Amino acid sequence: MISIGIEGTAHSIGVGVIHGNNEKCKVLSNVIKIYKPKKGGIHPREAANHHAEYIADLISESVNKAKIDFKDVDIVSFSKGPGLGPCLRTAATAARALSLSLDKPIMGVNHCVAHLEIGRGTLNDCKDPVLLYTSGANTQVIAFAEGKYRVFGETLDIGIGNCLDKFGRTIGLNFPCGPKIEELALKGKKYLELPYSIKGMDIAFSGLLTAAEHYNKNGEKIEDICYSIQETTFAALTEVTERAMAHTEKDEVLLGGGVAANQRLQKMVNKMAIDRGAHSFVPSKDLCIDNGAMIAWLGLLMYNSGMRMSIEQSYIDQRFRTDMEDVSWRD
Ligand code: AMP
Ligand code: MG
Repeated sequence: MISIGIEGTAHSIGVGVIHGNNEKCKVLSNVIKIYKPKKGGIHPREAANHHAEYIADLISESVNKAKIDFKDVDIVSFSKGPGLGPCLRTAATAARALSLSLDKPIMGVNHCVAHLEIGRGTLNDCKDPVLLYTSGANTQVIAFAEGKYRVFGETLDIGIGNCLDKFGRTIGLNFPCGPKIEELALKGKKYLELPYSIKGMDIAFSGLLTAAEHYNKNGEKIEDICYSIQETTFAALTEVTERAMAHTEKDEVLLGGGVAANQRLQKMVNKMAIDRGAHSFVPSKDLCIDNGAMIAWLGLLMYNSGMRMSIEQSYIDQRFRTDMEDVSWRD
């Protein structure tokens, strides 16, 4: 079956086309446009306007790149949530229009679950992982247990990517700041003490962000601050992930979200996995970041498991929690 997916939860609008059965997913195309504010953070309405401007072209481009015809599409999927309301509505509206014009079924999917499923669908041997999902807005440790994807730990305030981007802005970097902080961190030598806030299985980053900003004001080297931010936040993320693996007795860990592109994070998680005799997996970068292919794939899995959604039911949910979906497509 062929599925087309539209992703529009935040800064990116993406469209992907995949071919799949219930086991494996083959990505035929995955195109994306990223909204980059000239200054400051993401303004939801401006991001949505950006998405509205590009979505029609992206849909055509994804179909052309996949070398299929619109009539080959079996199902249209979109990101139902969580995310920014105006952005979600823009993507959902495009999906409804496409579904109606092609006369094909529609499926709204959970964005966080899609990050996990795309790893299972595209990576050999990645069957039942604990997902460390680290993106701009979201930071969650997710695994399948008792019929649902459960959140074993998450941020109590801001997402890790958001933390990096906010700090980056205070030192004059443009969005996305994570890759530049990674480069600066490579040159850092001195570890500066930062708050390491884990509460139960949850993490908080805002105190660390304030402390890092103080170091900057007090003239500490920017490279040392970036290095210390990475070492501290990534260690906390790895610790929570390890505890989730121990608790669920799973021996696979999967990375997802934009921050998963970070080599230092990958290295820490990989070492933790090796130390406990487990495997770590990182999807290719275009499947780690927010993308339409993962939405297409999860929509297909849901449809094939018998789930159906009418146009009237295809509403968005800004606060769509990972554990709200009954997972009927796996056991
Ligand atoms: P997402 O929200 O999943 O699309 O991911 C976007 C976030 O990933 C932004 O906050 C970026 O700063 C962050 N990011 C992208 N590449 C890297 C990297 N190499 N290291 C750290 N963060 C990154
Ligand atoms: Mg994401």
